Amino acid sequence: MTNKNLGLSDPLYDYLKSVSLREPDVLAQLRQETAQHLMSVMQIAPEQGQFMALLVQLMGAKKTLEVGVFTGYSALAVALALPSDGKVTACDVSDEYTAIARRYWQQAGVADKIDLHIAPALETLDRLLANGQENTFDFAFIDADKSNYDNYYERALQLVRPGGLIAIDNVLWSGDVANPQIQDTRTHAIRALNQKLHHDQRVVLSMVAIADGLTLALKR
Ligand code: CA
Repeated sequence: MTNKNLGLSDPLYDYLKSVSLREPDVLAQLRQETAQHLMSVMQIAPEQGQFMALLVQLMGAKKTLEVGVFTGYSALAVALALPSDGKVTACDVSDEYTAIARRYWQQAGVADKIDLHIAPALETLDRLLANGQENTFDFAFIDADKSNYDNYYERALQLVRPGGLIAIDNVLWSGDVANPQIQDTRTHAIRALNQKLHHDQRVVLSMVAIADGLTLALKR
């Protein structure tokens, strides 16, 4: 027994999945197709999708935001957990990756719940703010280019309502955040946001050691 976080061995990780994953077929198929892709590491882990779906249900969320869609796994996991009048506003720059996403959203019957904006996410977020959508989102998931993480966080913090939740992916960055030898731009950006969030009194904070690390920031 330990009260520290376990570095999960492969057998233990397999066990965790074997007794907890309830991945719908459509998500499993999407994960399998994405695994063939060169950039498949950009897809979230299935237990993380299930965790985010639980959070969305726990909150009774109806209106969510996603920054960074890739092939659409997380948006699909969230959309499946939303009520029928729920809506995901999704941002990505790639027509190629999101074509896969759209196909699976259609197959799952949730395509009408997801508004996909193909544009630099900062432009989309600024447009949402300009359109008076401040304080209207229940949940936001940030999982896009790391150098803009702080910009995405600041906009998401305006867009979610008080009591709304921002989830930020890859905050442990394969462990690189704790390795002083690693000094590239993306690692710096994640470290800087992690440090800023530690003392950011605008939010209630928890960094969860699931998958590649998921920070939860609840807007006060
Ligand atoms: Ca990610």
